[in-house]
Amino acid sequence: MIQARFHDGRTAAAHTVDVAAADGTLSFAVAGEPFAWPIADLDVEELGDRARLARPGDAARLILSIKDWRTLAPSRGRRLRRRELRLIAGLTLAAAAVCAVVFIGVPVASGPLARATPAAYERRMGESFEAQIGLAFKPCAGAAGQQALQRLAGRLEQASDSPFELRARAVQASMANAFALPGGAILVTDDLIEMAESPDELAAVLAHEAAHVERRHVMQAVWRSLGLGLILDAVVGGGTGAGQQAVLLAGSITDLRYSRKAELEADSRGQALLNRAGLSSAGMGPFFRRLAEAAEGEGPKAAAVRELISTHPDTARRAALSDARARPGPPAFTSAEWAAIKAACPAEKPRRRLLPGFG
Ligand SMILES: [Zn+2]
Repeated sequence: MIQARFHDGRTAAAHTVDVAAADGTLSFAVAGEPFAWPIADLDVEELGDRARLARPGDAARLILSIKDWRTLAPSRGRRLRRRELRLIAGLTLAAAAVCAVVFIGVPVASGPLARATPAAYERRMGESFEAQIGLAFKPCAGAAGQQALQRLAGRLEQASDSPFELRARAVQASMANAFALPGGAILVTDDLIEMAESPDELAAVLAHEAAHVERRHVMQAVWRSLGLGLILDAVVGGGTGAGQQAVLLAGSITDLRYSRKAELEADSRGQALLNRAGLSSAGMGPFFRRLAEAAEGEGPKAAAVRELISTHPDTARRAALSDARARPGPPAFTSAEWAAIKAACPAEKPRRRLLPGFG
């Protein structure tokens, strides 16, 4: 015998009733009055783990657990809609993720979580990030320069094992920075382009970001930074804005932090990607030294660089390691491409509050 709650639909009173199923009919009695509801006629609404049963045109309803409903009417109970199946899958993933976060801790769990995050999900999330980043950072207008950056991104993508299409673009900001978004977008700011003194240096920055994408560091940073908020998005699916909400709550899209280990890995992997693409990997060391020098100066730009390299620890050491790994090769950009990149962003730009960055 299965218990259910019966509401007559006219009064607030609820009755606990024993329900039996036989010959395609649910039978139960309320205060001695017998009811017989043909199962095939019932409107069934599933609310979380409960099922609400009603007859068409009748305000009375029975509420019982979905498990019990399936026991009573196996043929109808199995007819789960796709949306519900997706929700169940999402909840299972969420439960697993919550376990990982609670028992292992977000920082430690973020690597495995990032690698387990389906690429399709990261891509979808990237679209949401990109929509927001478009509000904060306007792309630079120079089409030829943008194309040159994209050509290098394409070569790095081919050299990498990235599940994502790499898309690079120059944007206007008030700080020297480069960052990768979930799903393969790489943004380089005008100030960083200005700071780079050779194609090799800029290529090293892009390759470093490409390595973050390939190694799923971006997703890892997202997990570390957003943790449970992301799980919400996994559960409720795209388009609801919950993921975006989480991003907004986290304060800033660029406020994601990589671990020191991830940074060192991105340096060496980035240089390997350049080598595999048949390009020089000699620009990384010099660019790190340039960053270190720029941070010595006075004023807001120096402060912004200090902020940047504080998330990139041991700049001098990283420069030395990069020099040791450097291999010669042709530059990533022709002189015409380099000139186009240097001219891509307008010299005058609106000032805005600096967002702390990660590189
Ligand atoms: Zn980095």
